[in-house]
Amino acid sequence: MRSDVATLPGSPERPNEDWVAAALSPSGCGGTVVLLDGVTPPAGDDGCVHTVPWFTAHLGGALTELSASRPDMPLSEILSRAIRRTADAHRDTCDLSHVRTPQATVVLARWDAASVEHLVLSDSALLLEAPDGTVRAVLDDRLDRVPDEVRRSLAATDRLRNREGGFFTAAADPAVAARAVTGTTPRARVRSLAALSDGASRWVELFGAGDWAACLGVLRAEGATGLLRRVRALETADTEAGGTHRWKRHDDATAVHVELGPPEGISPPPAR
Ligand SMILES: [Zn+2]
Repeated sequence: MRSDVATLPGSPERPNEDWVAAALSPSGCGGTVVLLDGVTPPAGDDGCVHTVPWFTAHLGGALTELSASRPDMPLSEILSRAIRRTADAHRDTCDLSHVRTPQATVVLARWDAASVEHLVLSDSALLLEAPDGTVRAVLDDRLDRVPDEVRRSLAATDRLRNREGGFFTAAADPAVAARAVTGTTPRARVRSLAALSDGASRWVELFGAGDWAACLGVLRAEGATGLLRRVRALETADTEAGGTHRWKRHDDATAVHVELGPPEGISPPPAR
């Protein structure tokens, strides 16, 4: 197994609010990937005395620890417990009922010798590559279904945030875990996997520079850093051309790619 991780802040003046971890457990032929994209609130208006990086570090740390230590527990239960643990860490100091209480998108993947489990909540992406090179993107497209004009209005977006008919993020309510997109794939059908925050997946979703299989090809050939460099180049070129493509020039961008290799115990066929 091999993992490759890269992350870039959207702006040098602001903290990077993405959070990523790749934990490999060679003895069990298993591992975990966690990727969070913290939602940026308007300055000081989230009912919380902490920062978004404080929140993502607590949530990401809990997700990593529980994924590794509780193989018996489904990923949705792990997300639920990690949200509760994080909420408990600031319940006494902060207003967790605030609609913009610190929150994040979540990609969680965990594998062992038999299977690959996944969980996706909100607009980060998980890619699963089959041995034949076919790439399946696991997406929670609820935020994409919110029209752009609504997303440009904070008040209108807030009316859909963690509400029925809107979109869901990991905030302070453990029940949101039941809204995540989840699934399990046989390990033999996954050669590699990747997780991308929306600042990185825009190579496909915003710029259309290639499809998901091409994106995975860039990750393999040029590494996670290579993909992020390509995104920044497209953003810069777009800005110089008049900046029609988006309202946020650069976003925090994170990519992690894990080559799973063949699971232990499955040997190549004997030579004849
Ligand atoms: Zn807080």
